[in-house]
Amino acid sequence: MKVALIGVGQAGGKITERLARFDADMGFGAVQGALAVNSAEADLQSLDVVDTQLVGADRVNGHGVGGDNELGTEVMQSDIQEVLGSLDGRVTSKSEAIFVVAGLGGGTGSGGAPVLVHHLQQVYDVPVYALGVLPGRNEGALYQANAGRSLKTLLREADSTLLIDNDAWHEQGESVEGAFETINEKIARRVGLLFASGEAIEGVGESVVDSSEVINTLRSGGVAVLGYATELASEDSGENITTAMSVSRQALLTGTSLPDATTADSALLVIAGRPDAIPRKGVERSRRWLEDETGSMQVRGGDFPLDSDRLGALVLLGGAERSDRIEAFMERAREAKEAQETESTDHADQFADDRLENLF
Ligand code: GDP
Repeated sequence: MKVALIGVGQAGGKITERLARFDADMGFGAVQGALAVNSAEADLQSLDVVDTQLVGADRVNGHGVGGDNELGTEVMQSDIQEVLGSLDGRVTSKSEAIFVVAGLGGGTGSGGAPVLVHHLQQVYDVPVYALGVLPGRNEGALYQANAGRSLKTLLREADSTLLIDNDAWHEQGESVEGAFETINEKIARRVGLLFASGEAIEGVGESVVDSSEVINTLRSGGVAVLGYATELASEDSGENITTAMSVSRQALLTGTSLPDATTADSALLVIAGRPDAIPRKGVERSRRWLEDETGSMQVRGGDFPLDSDRLGALVLLGGAERSDRIEAFMERAREAKEAQETESTDHADQFADDRLENLF
C-alpha cells in the first residue's frame, strides 16, 4: 500500500522517521513521502530523514506549545495552508492512503493531528488514517486528559485510528527513553510490514495481500489494532501448520498494540515467510480461529512472501473500540479531565507538575 506519512509533534516526527527509514532499508517502497510538522523547532532539527514544517512560529516562536493541546489545535488551524502546501509532491496520484502520526498525550500532536486529518479529508480522495500513541498508565494526568480529547476527535475525523498503547510494546525495567526507542522500533517494523504487505509482488505467493484488503479491513472505522508475532520456521511442512497457528494466536493474544482488544468488526491475517514455508492448511485454520476469536465474519487473509527463516503473523483488527482497554483508558482520561478542572485551570502549572513526576 503506497502511503504518505505526516508526523505531528515530537513522537509523531520520530515515529514517522523510523517508518520511512525501515521502508527504505527494506527496499519496500511503500512510503512515498514523509513530512514532520511541529511547533518546536528543536524537535524538528533532530530529524534527518524526513522533511519538516514548523507551525505556530508567530505564537510560540519555535518553542513548542508545552502540554497545551488546545494551543496545539490553534497553531495547526492557523498554519494549515502552509502544511497542506508542504504536502505537494508528497501525496501523489500513487498514494493509496495518508497516515497522520502523533503521540496523543502531548500538545502539538494531540491538538494538531485531528485538525490536520479534518483538512486532509477535504482535500484528498484517499482514506485518511490516524496512527495514535496512547500514554502509558504511569504517565501524568494531563497526558491522559489530552489523549482522551484527542482520541475522541480523531475517531470523529479519521477513517480509522490505529492505536498503539505505550504500555504494550516495551520490555520491563527500561528507562522511559529506552522504552520509547524500543516501542518506536516495533511500530516501524509492524506498521512498516503492514504497508509493505499490501504492495503487490508479482508472481510470488499463492494469495498475496492487496492494498484494497488493508483498506477494506479499516473500512469498519473506529479503532484499529495491530498484532505481530514470529517463530522459527521448520523444514517440515506439517510442523509449519502448527507454527502458523501459534504465531497467529500470539499476534492477537499477546502481541497487539492495544492489549486485550480481541473483539472486532473486521480483521486481516497476513502470514509472512518464505513461500515454500507458508502452509495453506495452517493459514486457513488460523483464519477460522481468528474469526471465532474476534467474532467477526469478515476475516481477510493473505501471504507476504519474505526471504526469512521465520514465519510471522500480522493481525490487523478494524472496529475494535469495544475493548476493556479503551474503556479503562477513557475512564482515566475523564477522571484526569475532571480533576484538572477542579484543581487548576492553569494548564502550564498542571503540566509542569506532571512532567516532574514523570521524569523523576
Ligand atoms: P508534542 O510534541 O507536544 O506533540 O508531544 P509528544 O509527541 O512528546 O507527546 C507526548 C506523548 O507521546 C506522551 O504520551 C509520551 O509518552 C509520548 N511519546 C513521546 N515521545 C515518544 C516516542 O518517541 N515514542 C512513543 N512511543 N511515545 C512517545
